[in-house]
Amino acid sequence: MFARLAERLGEALGRLRGRGRFDPQEVEECLRQIRLVLLEADVHFRVARDFVERVRERASREESLSSLTPYQQVLRWVYEELVALLGPEEPLRLPGNRPGIIFLCGLQGAGKTTTAAKLGLHFARRGQKALLLALDRRRPAAGEQLAVLAGKAGLPCRGFEALEEGVAELARRLGCGVVIADTAGRWQVDRELMEELVVWKEKLRPDEMLLVVDAMTGQQALPVAMEFHRHLQLTGAILTKAEGDARGGAALSFRAVTGCPIKFLGVGEKIEDLEPLRPERLARRILGMGDVEGVVEKVQEVVRPEEAARLARGQFTLEDFRDQLRRFQNMGPLGELFQLFPRWRKAVPAGELGEKGMQRALAIIDSMTPEERRNPGLLNASRRRRIARGSGTSVEEVNRLLRAYEEVQRLVKTMRGKGRRW
Ligand code: GDP
Ligand code: MG
Repeated sequence: MFARLAERLGEALGRLRGRGRFDPQEVEECLRQIRLVLLEADVHFRVARDFVERVRERASREESLSSLTPYQQVLRWVYEELVALLGPEEPLRLPGNRPGIIFLCGLQGAGKTTTAAKLGLHFARRGQKALLLALDRRRPAAGEQLAVLAGKAGLPCRGFEALEEGVAELARRLGCGVVIADTAGRWQVDRELMEELVVWKEKLRPDEMLLVVDAMTGQQALPVAMEFHRHLQLTGAILTKAEGDARGGAALSFRAVTGCPIKFLGVGEKIEDLEPLRPERLARRILGMGDVEGVVEKVQEVVRPEEAARLARGQFTLEDFRDQLRRFQNMGPLGELFQLFPRWRKAVPAGELGEKGMQRALAIIDSMTPEERRNPGLLNASRRRRIARGSGTSVEEVNRLLRAYEEVQRLVKTMRGKGRRW
């Protein structure tokens, strides 16, 4: 994601690497490079200029911390300003006492229909059923496309005739807490499209009015967004196709120019490929600081509420670990999840990543006493030998599992204090 931008920013900042002394002239040269890199990534020129200005101002105003090298210092400012540019994070705002209504608009091909299904799945995974609504009178095929995707996500889908019954009523009857409306688009903004959308909007009275924009269009997305905003008063945007070689211009300029937050990123063609935009995480990706947050989030997705309270206190026992392994098991392809834990993957040889490895892992934990599961500190060498015998595995495997557990425990601790968010 935004690989080229990341690489070029890395180069620009890299000039300061290895420097022991803060040299204002060198920092100035670095900032000049950063501005060029941003422009090259198709960031709006004013956004690029203001961004660099803010970093420059901090460099002149703030005393650099003695514990940081000049490189780290500038990296920190750039990181914090990137986070500020992208954030603050704004989750969807939906009412609690009636079905929430989300309205998707945007140009043809931006990814509205796909995104409608992705959002539906996003809610379904959090235990809330969504009703998908195809509001496109002109192209009957548009409704079919949505219906097919809805089928994949296991969600109900209706056409505009649903408006007759009343969308909220229908949603209630179908047991849906959210309604996601997919609308028609054109290749360009035109009056007829806007008028049609305004009519739908007035009928539906949505809680969220989201513009779906294609990241590949770069800053061209901005005037289009302004036009939609003027007619429809957007509450946010979803940036699609952000996974590929999109340059990053739209992502970085969008909020500063339109005033609207980007709430989600579309990161692939499959309906699973949607992630909430987390400013810190995206900034880290762009600056190449690794993607710890992404892992934490996946872990969070499979954490149950009653566990969450304990985890919030930083407690994560082997029993929790076993529960999570079981849930991972139910979630399907394990290889993918293991990939999220690079160190774990290193700890577990490739042949054991599958179903069998998981069963052995569960057998090991099952062979422990409840006491041991709650307090792994007890697991001395003789206990480990007993567990290996009991589970039909080896001490080596028991050790490996405990290392994996510690790794996950560490990850879980980094998510302390973070509540669940849509
Ligand atoms: P709509 O005209 O706005 O409804 O756009 P569609 O939902 O029909 O999507 C247009 C094309 O973009 C389809 O081929 C989608 O598979 C593709 N698409 C949508 N979102 C993404 C995304 O996040 N990543 C990628 N790579 N393709 C996407
Ligand atoms: Mg469509």
